[in-house]
Amino acid sequence: MTAAGTGGATADLLHTISDYSANYLQDPRTEHTGSAVDRSELRRRLAAPLPRTGDDAETVLNHLIAHGEPGLLHSGAPTFLGFVMGGAYPVAMATEWLTSVWDQCGALYATSPTASVVEEAVSRWLITLFGLPSHTSVGITTGCAMANLTGLAAARHHVLAGQGWDVERDGLIGAPPPSILVSRGCHVTVHRALRLLGLGGQVQPVDTDDQGRMRLDALETALAAARGPRIVCGQVGNVDSGAIDPIADICDLTHDRGGWVHLDAAFGMWAAASPQLRNRVTGIERADSWATDGHKWLNVPYDCGIAFCAHPVPHRAALRTGADYLTPAPDGGRDPVDFTPDMSRRARSLVLWATLRHLGTDGVAELIERCCILARRLAAGLANTDGVTVDNDVVLNQVLVPFTPVDGSTDAEHLARIVAALQRGPVGWASPTIWRGRPCLRLSVCNWQTTSDHIDACIDAIVSAHRTTGAAARTTTIEELV
Ligand SMILES: *Cc1c(COP(=O)(O)O)cnc(C)c1O
Repeated sequence: MTAAGTGGATADLLHTISDYSANYLQDPRTEHTGSAVDRSELRRRLAAPLPRTGDDAETVLNHLIAHGEPGLLHSGAPTFLGFVMGGAYPVAMATEWLTSVWDQCGALYATSPTASVVEEAVSRWLITLFGLPSHTSVGITTGCAMANLTGLAAARHHVLAGQGWDVERDGLIGAPPPSILVSRGCHVTVHRALRLLGLGGQVQPVDTDDQGRMRLDALETALAAARGPRIVCGQVGNVDSGAIDPIADICDLTHDRGGWVHLDAAFGMWAAASPQLRNRVTGIERADSWATDGHKWLNVPYDCGIAFCAHPVPHRAALRTGADYLTPAPDGGRDPVDFTPDMSRRARSLVLWATLRHLGTDGVAELIERCCILARRLAAGLANTDGVTVDNDVVLNQVLVPFTPVDGSTDAEHLARIVAALQRGPVGWASPTIWRGRPCLRLSVCNWQTTSDHIDACIDAIVSAHRTTGAAARTTTIEELV
């Protein structure tokens, strides 16, 4: 079926990777989660000039494995608590591989009927899972950043069309300026999307409360003072605290003024898929557009995000690309290219299809609920210790931990040493943030493999880093990291 003669050679290489993968995935990483080598070493190994003549494929692969692996961050480990990352279910990883083997251009029905129909199926499943309106349109993106861009492009089209302005035809110059009210708790990628859409200058921040939730009185004032069409950006799952905006009230206030509500719900969206957590996101189905991620909490490999829009017409109007050479899907079927900013892309929906099909609705709910329970266990275990507090209400999977040093160093110095110790070790890799002016350890539980034993080991590692770093104040050297 594939190009004649390549089957055997490809199969040999895939066997090499398969054998390597089995070993790699089994390694419990008892030495360290972070990179084993520094940057100059990685450059020496990997960044030499491109030679004139290439090497055979097996040699190249072996070189990449030997020299690339030492610089990996093992973020798929069940005791990894950094950023908001998650790992990858075996079924997701295997389907990702299948996606490469099939190598479909997922842009059009014409370029991959299977990818088109699988996207239709996945779209339907996700709309049902999150309880969104049944007519919601869906685009499968590289991540939540592109999903934010997608949702806000639809918003821009819609609110300007309401003023009789066709932004796709006439551009922004001369358009009635919209007011974009953005929670101070919103993610940076919301701001970048607005900048890319030419709307950066229209952004007005809306104040938040002590958890990072949009304040309704501030929104009400801003909406009343705003001129022109309004777009309100809310946050479902603050990137630090996990806090969730009062979505139902935001939708009421904004819709009363004829505005559009866009929600960045990169990980918070998944609470909607849990019967136990659904009441934390009450009203989520009333927004106009949503952006979320597959590659964080659903535990599929990078890249995978999802954009949803309650208004399919402006969604397609903003992103559609027609050309004589692009055969449209028959009978109004799905061309994935019409719903996201990219054109040729992996058949990204395959991994979503396989992972959702593997988990079922119960499995998704169980994953999300388990991570939230473990985050509360983590918070409770840490808050038990002298000099350690938890600074946020643990409503989802995020825990923010400031430390009080006992040796006279500043909070920031003490935290930097804790972070260095955790990043040097095998358990509890985490990174810092500043929360309400105070340096905090930022912890996130989103890996499908994490158990209460893993969380207890992380608590021990964090408490021990806190207790011992105070005694031995010094800076970590590269040698120690290796
Ligand atoms: C990660 C994240 C994003 C950006 O998503 P990508 O998948 O990295 O593109 C946006 N918002 C929040 C809250 C996030 O955590």
